[in-house]
Amino acid sequence: MVHIILWSQERPQSPPEIGGPDLGTILAVTPPTAAPHRIAPELEADAAHALDLLLDPALEPVVDMVVMSHGDHYEARTHDGSVTFRRSETDPTGYEPIGATGVDPLTDQSTEKFAPLAEERANPYPHRTANAYPHAYDTIAQIFDHPSAPDLCVIHSAAHNWEDQGGHRGEHGSLGVVQARAPFVIAGKGVRNDGLVARSGRLVDVAPTILHLLGATPHPDGTYLAGQDGEVRLDVLDLDGGRPQHVIGFLFDGTNPNVLYAMAASGEAPNVARLMAMGTSYQHGAMASLPTITLANHTSIITGRHPGHHGILNNAWWDRATGTQIITNSSATWHAAMDNLAAGTESIHTAVHRTWSDAFTASCNEPCDVDANYSTFDFFRRGEVPPIPNDPIGLPHSTERFVRPSKDYSWSTIIDHMCVEQAVGILSGHYRDTTYPLPKFMWVNFTLTDSAMHEGGPHSEIAAASIRDSDARIGEVIAAVERAGAFDDTAFVLVADHGMEENDPTVQGDWDVPLKESGLTFRDEAYGFLYLGVS
Ligand SMILES: [Zn+2]
Repeated sequence: MVHIILWSQERPQSPPEIGGPDLGTILAVTPPTAAPHRIAPELEADAAHALDLLLDPALEPVVDMVVMSHGDHYEARTHDGSVTFRRSETDPTGYEPIGATGVDPLTDQSTEKFAPLAEERANPYPHRTANAYPHAYDTIAQIFDHPSAPDLCVIHSAAHNWEDQGGHRGEHGSLGVVQARAPFVIAGKGVRNDGLVARSGRLVDVAPTILHLLGATPHPDGTYLAGQDGEVRLDVLDLDGGRPQHVIGFLFDGTNPNVLYAMAASGEAPNVARLMAMGTSYQHGAMASLPTITLANHTSIITGRHPGHHGILNNAWWDRATGTQIITNSSATWHAAMDNLAAGTESIHTAVHRTWSDAFTASCNEPCDVDANYSTFDFFRRGEVPPIPNDPIGLPHSTERFVRPSKDYSWSTIIDHMCVEQAVGILSGHYRDTTYPLPKFMWVNFTLTDSAMHEGGPHSEIAAASIRDSDARIGEVIAAVERAGAFDDTAFVLVADHGMEENDPTVQGDWDVPLKESGLTFRDEAYGFLYLGVS
């Protein structure tokens, strides 16, 4: 059994090593298949055995449910109930339940639960019976469209505290609404100015909405991206006054939107507040796809596809076709992660270039950089590692009292500072001895928020400091847009890749222990993707 130590590892502890890893082992491309993955008949007895162990009442504090595919239908099973469902041609949701036993764990698929912040704080680590699982049928089904989907996908509980992740007080990855919920702010040219509205979207909607806003040319079937799962959110757009010439997107990794919006309202995040005041934001957020994990959802944001369709299934998974473990989210593999994209997957950059062949696009510190003209990770792929400051002390917009004691805060401060240097440099027309035109589309990815919200939990002071620092950093980028004279022709988007939920440090445990003790042959990739019959 191999444990990946990178539940959500946006914080490489050393610069990526060029040529260090054997990249040949992470290049396998496994496109989605027509038939969903299902547990092989010869492994069904093992699956039943594993389910008995995983759903033992003793594990209930940490195992929320287990989800799986039976080929033509899907199942979510808990300690005291289950529900089966299938795709439907007639149901407007695209799915229909076909059976339940005991307590149906997916009865509440609402998107508005535990928002705003006071509601979340009044309901810490909700039990399954009190939680909501937005878009559950769709987000479970999509992952099994990939041939390397797990046999069993274990969903951890809201309360679960991963002891061997350093006992972090903030976590994500599950189906629960607080872990799935990312912020969604859109503002500027071509965007409605409705303020904070009581609605939600999905992260797969971000790319088609940006492309529609820019006026990109759709495919003949009306989609902006091949195999697009998301939809254009027309409810936030107002194109009567014209379209923007530029879109700049910010990603605050792992940011809890309730916390972000509250800090914007209280004056602690003035640049976020500025965008919110001139645009439209979803109070109930934009929902990440399963697994609500970093690389899977960064890629969903940029490609408009669910993880089971773009092929970046998780931070790590098992490729059945080649019998290979694939790790995308590590310091050694980030720059090559997109080698695992399913064939035919397009990015926002792809669609911009299809429409405007001479347009310039930029991807700052974002691993999902397919077809971007400028990408930070291109430097690493070429072996040209940019100069990385050794000491974060004294860097602008850094909270020294957390930089000093926290290794993760310190490293993320350096990385995010470099991100601002790139974005501001490009917008000023010059970065590292190269001149650049103004980007039609620029994506700017910040990592500090995830590090801090993991470490202290989303409601901690270190989390608040990370938002203040990140807010100031996007202020630098927005100021650069103003200096370039492009502010009135620009739209801005701010999202995260998943939410962050406070957990209960008294609720710890590892479901792999009883599985291992039972003698089952299995791999558990990235904590929760169980592959049976392989070791
Ligand atoms: Zn993340």
